[in-house]
Amino acid sequence: MSNQCAMPNKKELEERQRLEEAQLAGRMNRIKHKILVMSGKGGVGKSTVSTNLAFALYQAGKSVGLLDVDIHGPSIPRMLDLEGKHLNGTDTALFPIAPYENFKVISMGFLLPKGDEAVIMRGPLKYHTIRQLLKDVEWGDLDCLIVDSPPGTGDEPLTVAQSIENLDGAIIVTTPQQVAITDVRKSVNFCRKINLPVIGVLENMSGFVCPKCGEKVNIFATGGGKRMASEMGVPFLGQIPIEPQVTVCCDTGRPYIQAFPDSATSKAFRQAIKPILRLF
Ligand code: ADP
Repeated sequence: MSNQCAMPNKKELEERQRLEEAQLAGRMNRIKHKILVMSGKGGVGKSTVSTNLAFALYQAGKSVGLLDVDIHGPSIPRMLDLEGKHLNGTDTALFPIAPYENFKVISMGFLLPKGDEAVIMRGPLKYHTIRQLLKDVEWGDLDCLIVDSPPGTGDEPLTVAQSIENLDGAIIVTTPQQVAITDVRKSVNFCRKINLPVIGVLENMSGFVCPKCGEKVNIFATGGGKRMASEMGVPFLGQIPIEPQVTVCCDTGRPYIQAFPDSATSKAFRQAIKPILRLF
C-alpha cells in the first residue's frame, strides 16, 4: 500500500497560493477604483450610505460594483430587494447579481445561511472567506468598486485593505454625537496605520428636517463630524439628515437616491461622491 499522503506539500501549497494571488490581482486590476466604506460603530447608516453612494456613482454614468463583506449582519440584499437571490458560478468564478445594467452586487448575505441562524466565525476563517470572495468574484471591467465593511477596525476591513493592493481609500461614516465621533478617530488612525488614504468623513443622521414645517431639529447635536474631520486633518464630505423616506427605501429595497433624486438629501449624497469622481 502506498504511504503517500494526499495532502499537498509545501511547494504545491506555495504554487497554489501564488496562483490565487495572481487570480485576485487579475480580477482587481480590471476595476479602476476601489473604495472601502467604514464606520467606527454599528447603526450609523454605513450600509445605507454605501448603497446610495454606489448608486450616485452609477447615476453619474460609472459602472459600479457594490461588495458587502459583512459576515454577521449583511443588509445590502434587503436594501436592494435582492434577498433570497442565488449566485451563479463556475469552478473558478462567481458572478455578481446585476439589478441594473452596470450596477453589480455581491453580498455575504447571498452565501450565508438564511434566516435567524447565527454565523460563528473566528478571525482566520473570516480572512479566508473574504479573500476567497475577492478572488472568485468575476466583476469584469468596472469603473468603481464600493466595499461595505462591517463596523469597527477588525478582521474584515483589515482583510480587504491587505488583499486589494491598490485600494484608493476609505470613506468613514459617522453620526454627529460624541461617542460615534470618538470611534471614528479610531477608524482614521486605523487607516493611517495601514497607509490607506482617508477620502473623507461623512456625517449621517445629521439633524432631522420636519416634513410638515421644514424646520431642522438637531437631534444628536450637530457638526461633530466636521469638527473631528478638521481636527484629524481629513476631508469632510458633508451631512446627510435623518430622512424618514431613507428608512422606508431601505426597508422596501429601493435606493433612496433613485426614488427621490431631487431632494436635498440626494444632493448631499451626490456632493459626497465628488472626491471619487475626481479620481477618474
Ligand atoms: P449600519 O450599516 O451602520 O449598521 P444601516 O445602514 O443598516 O447602518 O442603517 C441602520 C438603520 O438606519 C436602517 O434602518 C436605515 O434605514 C436607517 N438610516 C440610515 N441612515 C438614515 C438616514 N439618513 N435617515 C433615516 N434613516 C436612516
